[in-house]
Amino acid sequence: MRDVVLSKDMLRRLRQIYEELGREYDNVAEQLNFSCAGCPDNCCDSYFLHHTYAEWAYLQLGFQELDPAQQDEVLEKSRDYIRQCRQAESEGERPQSMCPLNKGGLCILYEHRMLVCRTHGVPATMMRPDGRVLRFPGCFRCQEIVGDQDVPSLSVERTPMLRRLALLESELLDNRRHLLPRVKMTIAEMIVKGPPVLPIPHCERNSCV
Ligand code: SF4
Ligand code: SF4
Repeated sequence: MRDVVLSKDMLRRLRQIYEELGREYDNVAEQLNFSCAGCPDNCCDSYFLHHTYAEWAYLQLGFQELDPAQQDEVLEKSRDYIRQCRQAESEGERPQSMCPLNKGGLCILYEHRMLVCRTHGVPATMMRPDGRVLRFPGCFRCQEIVGDQDVPSLSVERTPMLRRLALLESELLDNRRHLLPRVKMTIAEMIVKGPPVLPIPHCERNSCV
């Protein structure tokens, strides 16, 4: 196995993607006069799966910076989260458990949180590789604010940022993304599994150079 390591340049680009997304989000939120302040809900208990080694590696970088006691606590919560999700799924329910990184309503790895955590809230659009456009209406509270407003002009266009993330992911995986195990994991699973590793290709294992 080999470690999946984000180079300095990849880290810079990933942070740039997150920052630009954050600016777009803030811009739309400001126009809608929307914020999470005073919300009775906390969407960190929403069930999301994440799909890139790049975000997994970046999340793990943040996790490794926590002190050992915090890491143990998060690991325990993550195992618990996974158990709860399995239980819900076995009962045919969509899991809904608080993210193991949320403490007292706040994210303890805020700088390392996932793309989905940075986009949930305001309306957004994205174009899939097959050309289909997906529209996200925003969270329940934002939908109340949006009401009858012209949503397309007041939404975050995620496509350019997602394309850049996909490019970065391909580069990180030496353009072998299609040959490698797919990532489809919760944050808890990414934490329990540890930093991402990849199988070494057969020819490299047998030093056929
Ligand atoms: S990573 Fe942070 S922002 Fe994202 S769901 Fe978990 S606690 Fe919430
Ligand atoms: S995104 Fe929406 S549901 Fe989530 S905390 Fe903010 S206002 Fe509440």
